[in-house]
Amino acid sequence: VCWVLWHLWEEVSIMDEKNIPIRTYQVCNVLEPNQNNWLRTDWIPRSGAQRVYVEVKFTLRDCNSLPGVTGTCKETFNLYYHESNEDRESYIKESSFIKVDTVAADESFTQVDVGDRIMKLNTEVRDVKVTTRKGFYLAFQDVGACIALVSVRVFYKTCPLTVRNLATFPDTVTGADTSSLVEVRGSCVNQSEEREEPKMYCGADGEWLVPIGGCLCSPGYQEKSGTCKACSAGFYKARSSDAGCSKCPPHSHSLRDGATVCDCHSGFFRADSDPPSMACTQPPSAPQQLISVVNETSVVLEWSPPRRLGGRSDTSYSLELSSSSSSQLCLPCGSDVLFSPGQAGLKTTRVVVSELRAHTHYTFIVHARNGVSQASGAAGSAQSVSVTVTTNQAAPSPVSYIQATDVTRHSLSLAWQQPDRPNGVILEYEVKFYEKDQRERSYRIMRTFSRSVDVTGLNPLTVYVFHVRARTAAGYGEFSTPFEFSTNSDPFPLIGEGVNSAFLLLSVSGVGILLLISAAVFIISRRRSKYSKTKQDSEEEKHLNPGVKIYVDPFTYEDPDQAIHEFAKEIDVSSIHIERVIGMGEFGEVCSGRLRAQGKREIYVAIKSLKAGYSDKQRRDFLSEASIMGQFDHPNIIRLEGVVTRCKPLMIITEYMENGSLDAFLRKHDGQFTVIQLVGMLRGVASGMKYLSDMSYVHRDLAARNILVNSNLVCKVSDFGLSRVLEDDPEAAYTTRIPIRWTAPEAISYRKFTTASDVWSYGIVMWEVVSYGERPYWDMNNQDVIKAIEEGYRLPAPMDCPVVLHQLMLDCWERDRAERPTFSQILNMLDKLIRNPGTLRRTGGERYMQMQEQLLTPTPTFSQYRDTLAAAGYTSLDSLLALTHQ
Ligand code: AMP
Repeated sequence: VCWVLWHLWEEVSIMDEKNIPIRTYQVCNVLEPNQNNWLRTDWIPRSGAQRVYVEVKFTLRDCNSLPGVTGTCKETFNLYYHESNEDRESYIKESSFIKVDTVAADESFTQVDVGDRIMKLNTEVRDVKVTTRKGFYLAFQDVGACIALVSVRVFYKTCPLTVRNLATFPDTVTGADTSSLVEVRGSCVNQSEEREEPKMYCGADGEWLVPIGGCLCSPGYQEKSGTCKACSAGFYKARSSDAGCSKCPPHSHSLRDGATVCDCHSGFFRADSDPPSMACTQPPSAPQQLISVVNETSVVLEWSPPRRLGGRSDTSYSLELSSSSSSQLCLPCGSDVLFSPGQAGLKTTRVVVSELRAHTHYTFIVHARNGVSQASGAAGSAQSVSVTVTTNQAAPSPVSYIQATDVTRHSLSLAWQQPDRPNGVILEYEVKFYEKDQRERSYRIMRTFSRSVDVTGLNPLTVYVFHVRARTAAGYGEFSTPFEFSTNSDPFPLIGEGVNSAFLLLSVSGVGILLLISAAVFIISRRRSKYSKTKQDSEEEKHLNPGVKIYVDPFTYEDPDQAIHEFAKEIDVSSIHIERVIGMGEFGEVCSGRLRAQGKREIYVAIKSLKAGYSDKQRRDFLSEASIMGQFDHPNIIRLEGVVTRCKPLMIITEYMENGSLDAFLRKHDGQFTVIQLVGMLRGVASGMKYLSDMSYVHRDLAARNILVNSNLVCKVSDFGLSRVLEDDPEAAYTTRIPIRWTAPEAISYRKFTTASDVWSYGIVMWEVVSYGERPYWDMNNQDVIKAIEEGYRLPAPMDCPVVLHQLMLDCWERDRAERPTFSQILNMLDKLIRNPGTLRRTGGERYMQMQEQLLTPTPTFSQYRDTLAAAGYTSLDSLLALTHQ
């Protein structure tokens, strides 16, 4: 530091305690009053410091030791500072200095021998906040003392570089104020990770205070005197923690420093879920002593645990089953075989396998597994044991469903399906039944070779309980669960008993009624022969169109699988994504889902599956629908996407129809469509039916419930299952399978199913559509419907039905099938109506309403008719025959 002197300060050399000469600045004007002598330093750069310390060493003469100077002599001097960016200020006014303190000599002093005098050496330290400029000047003001400045040391304080909790904190300059704490963030030392943000505070006196947070040595490293050192070979550390490295667990090793996990010795493994501290283990050896006990169609399997468990306690067992009597690929899944308590993930060593087929060889393989079986990639056979058994003969399983048909006052017909597992040839069925009120106190037994029986001699209006069981060479199976059916009351109650049915009106004998029927016959006869030029029989149509593709009945194939693979594409089950159940079909649930066939975009599909436990016949019937559907390609016929036959459950995949079946759809939107929209839907159905008839396919079950509707209101014909069931099984359940209300009379009475009978059904569909899903013939029972039709009765026009549409329906319901229009004619007719919507405007109005009312009100008596007719002047048959349509 260079010094600038004012006034009476002088530079003097003296000797210090060790007799070494030192330079001092001295002043000693004690005799004269008003002294103001200044000594200042050169510019001192601040160098980032905010508070500097000034240590002054000086001697000061005691005024008492100077005789005769009282009053003017002082024993203090003043310390000043001045902040400045200028490092060469030549002149600084006194007033620009700021006083730091008045400094006096204190008690602690060293005696210094200066020449002939003993002086006291004082050391005083003052601190100053210097924050505003790059540097500063210091100055000493003497006001009349006798001082020698021996040394001035200027310094600032830092908290020195340090490592605390594995974090490094740099050398840090203290804050500006004596109380200030400077917050400093530490950085983790090498190979360590932050546990919690490391922080410390640098205090004004250069001490580190309040350490917070810190770091932890990374995996593979441990702490050693403030640093992280790698674990040596044979040791590991898996996580960042303050723990040290651990020795490798049994059957593992680490060859290099810094291991985070130890590698398993060859032949030993670690499961994904095993912690690194766990010993390496091995898969179990095979289960031992597998014993099987066969009981009819059940097998009890028992075994002992493996000899070697591989050092683990998570051994589990799974069973694999294959049957040698079948070559089918999918059979081992054994979807209908029951495993108790389960087939896989078993902790116990005993399983009961039931619902097996009788007289069949089965091979059971019991696999032992543990947590490292997969990691070891061990071949299944290495840890498995197998046994082959042959099941015994067994009684058939119970019949699961009984249906009643042709119910009368004193009789009914029962029909049922073969048991799911006949377990042999069924020799006969036994039917047990009793009046429900009587319980089983008195029951009757009937035996039959077929799957149906007529039960007679019953009491009217009585609830009966029926059970059926099957018998094979192995004996009787269990009875089915109870099914209850009630006999009817008197089928022909007397008029006036309150039974309301239009058919009853017509069935009452009497001249007036006969006259009415004759009139109707007469009226109808006037419309006859409209369509007579076109013959109806499909055989004839076939001959007329020799180039047309003809439908092939899949039942003509000896092997049903050949038919299915000729007409339907096999779909890989993995490309199907089932989403939800949308309906119940005859064979099981119908689901919706998505299909992503290879190279094609994903589409929505409907998936029909065949529920487990089916018979060969059921399989054949189920797949026949796909074999039929697969032959068609028309916008109004439901499109088959493919089938799954190689795996269970069997599935039929078709295009998805968002609005479901037409009848339910119309009921949901009652009255919401225009006539043109309804005719549009009917046109779609007619177009699909024309296509089917061109292919010589007779549907036999055309009804609104079998039409599906997509999101664009396009109607498509579906359900191609019925035709075959009828032919296969002429006896059983014959009438039950015929949808009476939709079926033409000749098909009901002598099973003449033709395209013309489909036309009749089409007329009923028209009626269903225009009445928004009303049930044809309302709540009349089937026998009444048959009778009414036989007697010439036809459904009246639904409300607001255009006359032309009802006329078309009546044409479809011509008794003589040759008189009914063809689908081609129906299609032309509907197209004409759509082109000229005016023709649809005229509805039957009141007249048809009245007819409907007649159906719903109690039957008038014969005398009322006679009176009404007589009042209108119709007194003879001739006059009645002259009635016009109006
Ligand atoms: P089905 O086997 O035709 O009797 O089907 C039973 C029910 O499943 C029908 O009434 C429909 O509600 C529904 N369903 C069948 N196929 C489809 C399909 N392709 N799209 C939408 N729903 C369907």
